[in-house]
Amino acid sequence: MYESKKEEAGNWLGWRTFIVKSKVEESAEITSFYLKPKDGKALPKHLAGQYLSIKIFLPEMNLEQIRQYSISCAPNDEYFRISVKREKGTNIAVNGMISNYLHDYIFEGDELELSAPTGNFVLQETKNKKIFISGGIGQTPLLSMLETFDLNEKVQHDVVWIHACRNKEVHAFADKIKLIQNNHPNVSKYQFYDYIEESIADSSVLKGHIDFKKIEDWKFDKDSEYYVCGPRPFIKKMIEELEINQVNKEQIFFEEFGPKSL
Ligand SMILES: Cc1cc2nc3c(=O)[nH]c(=O)nc-3n(C[C@H](O)[C@H](O)[C@H](O)COP(=O)(O)OP(=O)(O)OC[C@H]3O[C@@H](n4cnc5c(N)ncnc54)[C@H](O)[C@@H]3O)c2cc1C
Repeated sequence: MYESKKEEAGNWLGWRTFIVKSKVEESAEITSFYLKPKDGKALPKHLAGQYLSIKIFLPEMNLEQIRQYSISCAPNDEYFRISVKREKGTNIAVNGMISNYLHDYIFEGDELELSAPTGNFVLQETKNKKIFISGGIGQTPLLSMLETFDLNEKVQHDVVWIHACRNKEVHAFADKIKLIQNNHPNVSKYQFYDYIEESIADSSVLKGHIDFKKIEDWKFDKDSEYYVCGPRPFIKKMIEELEINQVNKEQIFFEEFGPKSL
């Protein structure tokens, strides 16, 4: 994938230094980093849904670590945006090492080493209707896709986005998505929260895990593409549900935020 892209304008092989131009808190546990190339040269136009890798050296541990982050914005000439969830591990060996480092020690003006965008969880052009299904931080590549549609005056596709997260506190990008939705009548969104406090109960939010039966007039449309992203058990459950309801495997696309195991 890297080899085939190296001739593209602005692309690079290996690592390239980027500067954190801004750091924005999106929710209680998700923070975005806007990254611009230090050399001031062109950026490649990534495909919505792709990710990049970040290499971090931890001097106190004499340890170099690489992690992948989906680009959460539409392609543009100036910057990449990544949005990182602060992982709270319970196991000492898998304890959110790099996500916490990014949250706690990386600030505006700091440098990060990035590899070029890559990945094949990208928009397909087989069906007009796109259904996005995300759990938690799994919304990042889908947000890039939605923002890409939003670049056009009129969103050419019908988009239905179903997102689940624990509660309002950890729900990122709600306003951004609402704005896009307001401008494009063919974009609709359904939100599930694990917990809803009575004081903030809102009829537009559905309670519990994603349950298609709770969505008014829901039909498993065989003429749609389904894009699924989130934790491994979430993806597994959603794909099982789609398949039970006769959605073809060829219409389902997913990205796993970890070692490929599905
Ligand atoms: C394609 C892709 C896109 C992603 N996009 C996003 C995104 O948009 N936002 C986001 O927040 N996260 C994203 N992730 C997850 C992200 O890459 C990290 O896994 C996450 O931030 C947790 O990393 P951590 O270091 O904080 O956690 P840790 O729990 O410390 O480590 C995370 C993973 O790395 C493994 N690991 C830890 N140490 C080592 C080691 N020394 N050697 C090898 N493996 C090790 C762990 O087993 C674990 O699976 C994405 C992952 C992938 C694969």
